[in-house]
Amino acid sequence: MVYNWYYKKNRTGVCTEHNLPQKTKTFLAEQLHFALPQIHTVQESKDRTVKFLFELRDGKKVETVLIPFQGKYSVCLSSQVGCAMNCSFCHTGLQGFARNLSADEIVGQLLGAKTWLANHRADDAKISNLVYMGQGEPLHNFDAVKTSAEIFISQHGLSLADHKVTISTSGYAPGLKRWKQEMPDVNIALSLHSPFNEKRSQVIPINRRYPLEEILPLVDAIPTGKKRFVTYEYLLLKDFNDGPEDAHATGRLLRGKKAYINLIPFNAFPGARYQAPAADKVQAFKAVLDGYEIPTLIRTTKGDEILAACGQLNSLAL
Ligand code: SAH
Ligand code: SF4
Repeated sequence: MVYNWYYKKNRTGVCTEHNLPQKTKTFLAEQLHFALPQIHTVQESKDRTVKFLFELRDGKKVETVLIPFQGKYSVCLSSQVGCAMNCSFCHTGLQGFARNLSADEIVGQLLGAKTWLANHRADDAKISNLVYMGQGEPLHNFDAVKTSAEIFISQHGLSLADHKVTISTSGYAPGLKRWKQEMPDVNIALSLHSPFNEKRSQVIPINRRYPLEEILPLVDAIPTGKKRFVTYEYLLLKDFNDGPEDAHATGRLLRGKKAYINLIPFNAFPGARYQAPAADKVQAFKAVLDGYEIPTLIRTTKGDEILAACGQLNSLAL
């Protein structure tokens, strides 16, 4: 009943369901807090992307993005305030790490975004997918991310289909090791960005500690459903990892796996030292991967003008 009140009816105040014992109501009111993160600012872009800056109980802020997709929305959630991984191409990484989000702060982002949609875009308020691709490295905050994912897919919680939830990781091995036993049955996405350790380490520093030969078998060991794939994200940085030799090595590495590649041309942000490759270079990269018969999608950028695209989130720059 209490789950119903908060998750199905999307209420945030004290639970007043009449057939709940008074003792329980008092306990809930005193012991638990259900207030959603406060919306500090909302930015809407022409393509209908919406970026929320949520203010948390301690005044810290995180961003959440609603991305329009075939008449519905994908929600991009943050898992930490900032990120400790310090990837060189990522606006969040450059902001440093402040703290982990609690499970209620992660779930609260979805409930907050859902409430806003119902109030502002009632006729197309459907949320179809959830991705942990906002600020933070989800597996570096394993327990809270796990609890939030359980709430999202639980029948008592938000009842989302498990294959609609995707957690993206830069390859944080301690979390990958726990995944198989502990994580609910949601999708995994690995930020690959290069099939070569030397290059990957230049842009994702934790690759020095957890190199490809350690993390790829851990990803392979995660059970995927019959029709499911592991998504490998490949960020294309001009003149760094966008050449045919990179594409061929990626094809060789992923050939035969249940892999799906998401090519993401670099999204720029103020002060960034990289550029996106030209469109024909991106197409050529995809053509090589097609030759290895690996399904590959070029991710079109949404919400760019409000810095809401992947890797542009930085709640300290606002
Ligand atoms: N920390 C996790 C999830 C958040 S980042 C991870 O790294 O996977 C989500 C995706 O955005 C990752 O694939 C990340 O590499 C990518 N990304 C980061 N900065 C980017 C940028 N400037 N342009 C495009 N994609 C970026
Ligand atoms: Fe963190 Fe992911 Fe950004 Fe790397 S790309 S700094 S892991 S949020």
